[in-house]
Amino acid sequence: MAKKTALVWLRHDLRVADNPALYHALDSYEKVYAIYILDQNQEQEWAVGGAKKVWLHHSLGALNERLNGKLSFLKGDSASLVKSVVKDRDIDAVYWNRYYDEHTINRDKKLKSYLQDNDIEVETFNASLLWEPWEISKSDGTPYKVFTPYYKNGCLEAKEPRQPLPMPSGQKRENLVALQNSVSLDELELLPSINWHSSIESAWEMDESGANKCLEEFLDKGIHGYKEKRNNPAQRHTSRLSPYLQTGEISPHTVWHAVQERLAANDVPSNDAHHFLSELGWREFSYSLLYHFPKLPHEPLQEKFKDFPWVENDKHLNAWQTGQTGYPIVDAGMRELWQTGWMHNRVRMIVGSFLVKHLRLHWHHGEEWFWDCLVDADHANNAASWQWIAGCGADAAPYFRIFNPMTQGEKFDSEGEYIKKYVPELKDMPLKHLNAPWDAPDDVLKKAGVKLGDNYPKPLVDHSEARNYALDAFQEIKKGS
Ligand SMILES: Cc1cc2nc3c(=O)[nH]c(=O)nc-3n(C[C@H](O)[C@H](O)[C@H](O)COP(=O)(O)OP(=O)(O)OC[C@H]3O[C@@H](n4cnc5c(N)ncnc54)[C@H](O)[C@@H]3O)c2cc1C
Repeated sequence: MAKKTALVWLRHDLRVADNPALYHALDSYEKVYAIYILDQNQEQEWAVGGAKKVWLHHSLGALNERLNGKLSFLKGDSASLVKSVVKDRDIDAVYWNRYYDEHTINRDKKLKSYLQDNDIEVETFNASLLWEPWEISKSDGTPYKVFTPYYKNGCLEAKEPRQPLPMPSGQKRENLVALQNSVSLDELELLPSINWHSSIESAWEMDESGANKCLEEFLDKGIHGYKEKRNNPAQRHTSRLSPYLQTGEISPHTVWHAVQERLAANDVPSNDAHHFLSELGWREFSYSLLYHFPKLPHEPLQEKFKDFPWVENDKHLNAWQTGQTGYPIVDAGMRELWQTGWMHNRVRMIVGSFLVKHLRLHWHHGEEWFWDCLVDADHANNAASWQWIAGCGADAAPYFRIFNPMTQGEKFDSEGEYIKKYVPELKDMPLKHLNAPWDAPDDVLKKAGVKLGDNYPKPLVDHSEARNYALDAFQEIKKGS
């Protein structure tokens, strides 16, 4: 009997190119429904954050256009909605691409059994990882906890990531059908009612063509010098692909093979290209950790950190969130985050270290704020990176290594361009005093128009004192361990 009707459930894969679930459903079925479900209740605390919602609104709108208006939007409990569409539309098969957080895995498993018990075919695919978490393990079968052996001995020795799939043909795409009882994109209510998001919208092209342009531009320019310059937040030497990889406007397979092609053509420097590929490896590593240690977003991987004497201080947390700590590089980063929905990796490390070490506020506060503000907010990368910063994760930065915000600023923003862009109050400060305005003589401050405690904050905490407190706190848990 000819295969008739399939349902494709799009999730973290908002693209037409290299989308295995969409490609294979269109290839095998006469009629295909493609749906996206906004399920804010079920995901509870990790419901889509504010900046990500703005991104989703635009990305879903663009994807719907690419699918000739045949993408259907639904809102509510995802498993119940899939079940009811399957029943109402006489669906023969359901296709989706896999995702790896605990909640999704448990929900998908239950749904798959229910559908199979009802004689519905279920096909799931890998669309978002180069190597799935269960494909890479140590020789004794346990998961890697340290990045370098994970990547070098695990990933690079494993099967090469598959080639990206071609676009489904225009003719195949004609087989898409819209659901009658779906909601409109506007009814998903992803855009906020108060306009705080226009600067985020103007910073990004939030769709599949934006992702491809971003990759091409990076391979033409930014990747040249990546290894050295990727730490400089004022320069465009990282790809800025993270939001596209997270929401799935581009697949890591497309990125991986685009780099390999440029390497084969001697079009990009080998050391820069391989360093870039290893950063994709960090993303894989985070997902491997999330899969093998599903409590990663909540619990420290190193048990002893459960007893760390974190401080509660709303005033300090608010100053950090709003970029008002009085430490220019920290404030610049937090304001970049608010204005663009993104922050440069080097600065993420500096602001993260400041939160957990200088202020000794729990890394959960940072994880939650980033979750709400980042357009690339990611279950695996966000949790693994915060654990890394706090010193409590796998292969983490040791707790006693405390970033000095002044020397970090001097080293990585040596011309002060990044700080002056995001902290315009300091635009006339001479470089010599830019990273520690509190040490500048009165006449220098006056000439630069800076009044500490008035138009720019005094430092929230004293660097040396904060450092000592942090080290003492660390000694306490070491004693207990
Ligand atoms: C406290 C903290 C929180 C973070 N939260 C997130 C998050 O929610 N989502 C997110 O995607 N990244 C997160 N990162 C990792 C990293 O900062 C971003 O992936 C990176 O800045 C994205 O910029 P890019 O695309 O220009 O990176 P590139 O340097 O161009 O790297 C290419 C890709 O590799 C991956 N990658 C790069 N660096 C890392 C890394 N250290 N760990 C894991 N993957 C990496 C990303 O997918 C990135 O797009 C966090 C880092 C820190 C320190």
